[in-house]
Amino acid sequence: MPRSGQDYLESLRDGRAVWLDGELVKDVTEHPAFRNTARSVAALYDMACEPGRRDILTVRPEGADRSVLRAYHVPRTAAELVERRKAFKTWSEASFGFLGRSPDYMAAGTAGFVSAPDIFAGEGFDGRDNLAALYRRASEGSLYQAFTITNPQIDRTRAASEQEEDDLYVRVVKERDDGIVVRGAKMIGTGAVFGDEVVVGTIEPLPRQDVEYALTFSVPLDSPGLKFISRTSYEAHARSVFDNPLSSRFDENDALLVCDDVFVPWERVLTYRDVDTTFRMWWFTPAYNNFVHQAATRFWTKLEFLTGLAILLTRANNTYALPPVQMQLGRLMGWLNIAKSMVVAAETMYERVAGEGSAVHLNREIASAHRAMAGDLYPKVLAELKMLAGGGLIQLPASGYDLTHPELGPLVAKYVRSPGTPAEQRIKLLKLAWDALGSEFASRHEQYERFYHGAPHVYLPGILRDGDPDLLAAFTQSCLDGYRLEDLPGGGGTDALS
Ligand SMILES: Cc1cc2nc3c(=O)[nH]c(=O)nc-3n(C[C@H](O)[C@H](O)[C@H](O)COP(=O)(O)OP(=O)(O)OC[C@H]3O[C@@H](n4cnc5c(N)ncnc54)[C@H](O)[C@@H]3O)c2cc1C
Repeated sequence: MPRSGQDYLESLRDGRAVWLDGELVKDVTEHPAFRNTARSVAALYDMACEPGRRDILTVRPEGADRSVLRAYHVPRTAAELVERRKAFKTWSEASFGFLGRSPDYMAAGTAGFVSAPDIFAGEGFDGRDNLAALYRRASEGSLYQAFTITNPQIDRTRAASEQEEDDLYVRVVKERDDGIVVRGAKMIGTGAVFGDEVVVGTIEPLPRQDVEYALTFSVPLDSPGLKFISRTSYEAHARSVFDNPLSSRFDENDALLVCDDVFVPWERVLTYRDVDTTFRMWWFTPAYNNFVHQAATRFWTKLEFLTGLAILLTRANNTYALPPVQMQLGRLMGWLNIAKSMVVAAETMYERVAGEGSAVHLNREIASAHRAMAGDLYPKVLAELKMLAGGGLIQLPASGYDLTHPELGPLVAKYVRSPGTPAEQRIKLLKLAWDALGSEFASRHEQYERFYHGAPHVYLPGILRDGDPDLLAAFTQSCLDGYRLEDLPGGGGTDALS
């Protein structure tokens, strides 16, 4: 059985260096900027231990004496892919799709690495044994792995080694008998402050000259010299669960990772001074594709939640039955069904890593198209809901306390209501809607859906690579080849045109 939520929370009290507003946070499980979200993650672990959901969320691998989180399991049949999706779905429903980087995300990525371990046999460094050890450690310990695999923006026109200073991006500064010392920064550690380990690497291709920056390793959060500088906390600014129902509980945090001369033992290094392997481990194993399986399932859940929200809002406003509103709701429902169908289609048209009995993964073309679809669609979904909600989203009392105030309470009850929806119910609904659509938390989610899987100039050409452009060009060419100038009525030649 995986560890309990309580065991997970206790593991976070390890002296990790999390910084917020100039303060070194002593304990993320108690700090008002982090504690509720830590508890939401702990609740996921507890779900995996519950008799009713254990079979969905965990699996006992063949020959193993204990169960692991299903996200860590390597699927070898289409049915196992579907089982994994049911696990993703169950966890994503617990946060209504708002915890993007729940522990199953990187777990699925690590299962992707071990599905094609030979990729880790680099030219000068063989990371296969270290990968196997990471997989054992993480799956048997049900670890929450975060990852930072993007270099800070600084200057996107220059290679890592051409930046103004050498140590802006994580690089190796010292080699020792027992390991290496690394220095520099990476962005963005989503959920990292709640993690057990962080995988540090680079998903973008690096030029040959950046060999010092071409490495991947996984270290515990309390590694000396490792620092996380948190963005503003939405959880800390939430008044209450009633007033900020999502941001008060599902603020998964994003942090800049700084390695201030962090020692990494050799056994924690996965790729080393190798630009090819450092890149290929993400794209030539099913790791990235497995990320999409979790993310696309979560996106489907999020659209279920938002479509449900649109239905409740329009019912509360008594606009639900109006024909234009029915049209807008139909559009939302259609988008939700597209998101769902893409997951199911990508599973049905699964692919196999080369080799008999090997791992299966989502269909690459569909997974890759999903990344683009979701990033483009999400802002449209939000815009559609805002149009449906109208000014009620803004004309809300500052907090639920106004409802209980002796003088204000009756006024709010009288004026903030609609037929069949008393004030408390309406305010509760609209505050949930604002948190999902208009708050700072909501804006961060819009940016997340657009960028968590990379920038468009990277992933859109990837769709072209995953597809078969020659086949499509040949198909259209076959249309062109089906007629000739000579076939013009009255015969060919330019005379026929005059
Ligand atoms: C909320 C959130 C959470 C995230 N979580 C994580 C995480 O947990 N782990 C992690 O590793 N990363 C994470 N990321 C980072 C994410 O991986 C990056 O945002 C993503 O890779 C894009 O890189 P960038 O933001 O530096 O954008 P850039 O590469 O700087 O691109 C930004 C824009 O600049 C323009 N541009 C830049 N370069 C080019 C070019 N060569 N050609 C054309 N146009 C260009 C484009 O308009 C592009 O949209 C997260 C991001 C967000 C927003």
